[in-house]
Amino acid sequence: MKVVKDIVQMQRLSQQLRLRRKKIIFVPTMGALHQGHLALIKHGHQLCSGTPHALIVSIFVNPTQFNSPKDFKFYPRTLPKDLSLLRHCKVDYVFTPSAAMMYPEGAETCVEPGALAQYLCGATRPGHFRGVITIVAKLFHIVQPDFAIFGEKDFQQLAIIRQMAKDLNFPVQIIGHPTVRESDGLAMSSRNARLSPEGRRRALAVVQGLREAKRLTSSGVRNVTRLKKAVRHILQEKGKIDYLELVDVQTLRPVKTIKQKTLLAIAIFIDEVRLIDNCLLP
Ligand code: AMP
Repeated sequence: MKVVKDIVQMQRLSQQLRLRRKKIIFVPTMGALHQGHLALIKHGHQLCSGTPHALIVSIFVNPTQFNSPKDFKFYPRTLPKDLSLLRHCKVDYVFTPSAAMMYPEGAETCVEPGALAQYLCGATRPGHFRGVITIVAKLFHIVQPDFAIFGEKDFQQLAIIRQMAKDLNFPVQIIGHPTVRESDGLAMSSRNARLSPEGRRRALAVVQGLREAKRLTSSGVRNVTRLKKAVRHILQEKGKIDYLELVDVQTLRPVKTIKQKTLLAIAIFIDEVRLIDNCLLP
């Protein structure tokens, strides 16, 4: 496994891989790796098993997608541990550029998302998805992947990246991977490490909320006001709800009744740590 810090070097390595007809699988991350990230890597290997391929992981805590300087400052950074985890996952290259290299002085161009960014995290974190898709577009130009794998935990991010890749004609296939959870159901997240033991217990309300919504919809409830009330009842007093929405799975627009596949999406602050999770209903 080779660690690459330089943009031009990474670009050249990717070009060489393409010349050698190797499929490039790319898993972008912000580090503080957990089993969720590793599952994306495994998915990548399985996707191209039997075909010559190279797996590239990027680790970059992207400053432009953070709304709060405090969140950026306290985002966990565990590079030595991350590298040792990746060594066990048959990763070929780890791309770890610096912020100064990714955003040199004078950089001013960005990629602006469309309507999908109006809702959910896009509504409560202005500019967040501009930061996300700008860095993803830059990484795609550098790594030149055939496949890029993203988690469904960040459902809206995945939808916006799919749209961006299509709109800007990136020759890359975007692959989604189901949310990987702890044994008690909590969605794995680098931010979980910042929870106090008591906050970690309260965070379970998110999964309980999702489960309750699933239970109600499978018993026939379709009214969104009723579903939201039931989930809010479970979440309140556990943290500060950032949003609790039921949205159309394609457009991400809020719905009033459940007629077709609907996404229940939750964002909540617990111990000042912002957690997100979602599930599909019914
Ligand atoms: P991050 O390092 O949080 O930016 O995440 C990097 C990638 O891992 C993104 O595509 C995330 O959606 C994905 N990811 C993070 N947590 C999970 C999880 N628990 N299950 C599946 N994918 C995840």
